[in-house]
Amino acid sequence: FLGRPDNSVSGRVRVAVRLRPRNAEELVADADFADCVELQPEVLSVKRLKLRKNNWDSDTYEFDEVLTEFASQKRVYEVVAKPVVESVLEGYNGTVMAYGQTGTGKTFTLGRLGDEDTSARGIMVRAMEDILENISPETDSISVSYLQLYMESIHDLLNPVNDNITIVEDPKTGDVSLPGATLVEISGQQSFMELLRIGEAHRIAANTKLNTESSRSHAILMVHVKKSVSGKEADFSDNDNSSHFGSNFNPPMLRKGKLVVVDLAGSERIHKSGSEGHMLEEAKSINLSLSALGKCINALAENSAHVPVRDSKLTRLLRDSFGGTARTSLIVTIGPSPRHRAETSSTISFGQRAM
Ligand code: ADP
Ligand code: MG
Repeated sequence: FLGRPDNSVSGRVRVAVRLRPRNAEELVADADFADCVELQPEVLSVKRLKLRKNNWDSDTYEFDEVLTEFASQKRVYEVVAKPVVESVLEGYNGTVMAYGQTGTGKTFTLGRLGDEDTSARGIMVRAMEDILENISPETDSISVSYLQLYMESIHDLLNPVNDNITIVEDPKTGDVSLPGATLVEISGQQSFMELLRIGEAHRIAANTKLNTESSRSHAILMVHVKKSVSGKEADFSDNDNSSHFGSNFNPPMLRKGKLVVVDLAGSERIHKSGSEGHMLEEAKSINLSLSALGKCINALAENSAHVPVRDSKLTRLLRDSFGGTARTSLIVTIGPSPRHRAETSSTISFGQRAM
């Protein structure tokens, strides 16, 4: 992230844009048409191409990171998520979110298991691998919740019986907890991947019951890391203890960090004409939470003292995981197709608001 101040103090959001390659259909059907964007990773910018008075013109937008269709999953993890995971291991909270139109690669980026081909693994699996490598099983622990947020209600993807989980906020510390959500202790990568599989199966079943698509809800993975460090290792930045002991006294201390990974609902506009009743309510609800999120990241980007977290369940849930000492990374995903020019523009604008 060249030329930008470190965000650990300011709480600034880091924003990356990722373009997915054309799919088979786009390669054929849009063969005669240029992509609607042109990425310039060397200058960290995206050119949005537009037709003006029969000439091609462009607007240029800068991002913290520009990931072309050739960017590997490994590189995406390293630039988008790794700094957040590192700070979680140091006892802070952090968030990694993917925003974009359905079909642009949010789940590919975050949720791919890659059990056949490890190079395909997404951010969730890589983050867990990194965490597992950096803790000691004897003293430390990792536990996970996996949730779906749909129409302002929180469903437990690890135990579908819990379908209306309430958010509890500590008025003093601002810490968020979900007493009704299943919390599963993770012992290794295999058990974590199994959990993601179970969560995904429950998500499909729940959405069939709710008569909706998974793109219409947010999927939220929460990873709680408790790491014990000796007093010597711990420094004054430790957020769990006041380390004002003499230098000869080194009691073990507990560092608690939380990583939240959010696969957001598709950002596409639902055309009012075609939607009514349930579909319209769904669209309104997605709009509410994504615009509330936009306002919060905008406030963070501007270093505003007031981050309006109260406007939606999504932002209430994230309250202790962005701003303050928490690190936030946003990846906006776009497709190349000229047919989706308008949605691609709106995704780019959302990303720009966070800068
Ligand atoms: P979303 O979750 O945003 O709806 P998906 O992650 O499901 O989108 O991706 C849609 C399709 O595009 C999937 O078939 C996925 O494998 C493919 N895809 C997405 N991103 C990439 C990429 N960077 N490289 C190759 N294929 C991709
Ligand atoms: Mg998806």
